[in-house]
Amino acid sequence: MGVRTWITSWPVYRQLTGEDPLGRGAAAKSPHSDRLTARVDTADEVVKSVCPYCAVGCGQNVYVQDGRVTQIEGDPDSPVSRGRLCPKGSASLQLTTGPAREQQVLYRRPYGTEWERLDLDTAMDMIADRTVAARRSGWQWEVDGVRTRRTLGVASLGGATLDNEENYLIKKLFTALGAVQVENQARV
Ligand code: SF4
Repeated sequence: MGVRTWITSWPVYRQLTGEDPLGRGAAAKSPHSDRLTARVDTADEVVKSVCPYCAVGCGQNVYVQDGRVTQIEGDPDSPVSRGRLCPKGSASLQLTTGPAREQQVLYRRPYGTEWERLDLDTAMDMIADRTVAARRSGWQWEVDGVRTRRTLGVASLGGATLDNEENYLIKKLFTALGAVQVENQARV
């Protein structure tokens, strides 16, 4: 490499003589960094989502390649977070791909000391049976002579990252069951 080539390859030389006087673009790049590409560039699609960790509800872009989630980053279109994620939200890729993620229903019987694996249909049937039984046992036709037709046997406490549509469906379902205790973490 000649002296002239050596000098002109310096970032500070390129910054002072080129079209990047603030050194934020081409002048700051080395041949190596110039070849680098973002790891999300090869994604097949980007799915909009919401961080599930806390009540802030930051927007996320979920990058998918070959049917698998490959990266989760902040969504610049979100009016809530404008592209930012805190360290927990930035690490939420682990929720989908980490080895600690449970892929099956786990159930611990009353007085049981071990978790049992259940198939989803069995678990759903158990939930339905218990909901019907709890609704029935807590049913009140009247209170102090006033018609109530309600149950105090079931209640709902939603999380703050439930969206409008999920909360709408939860309210419909529990009201149809006769429940009057329908709350959300965001109001508690
Ligand atoms: S990124 Fe952090 S602040 Fe935003 S919703 Fe997730 S946990 Fe909450």
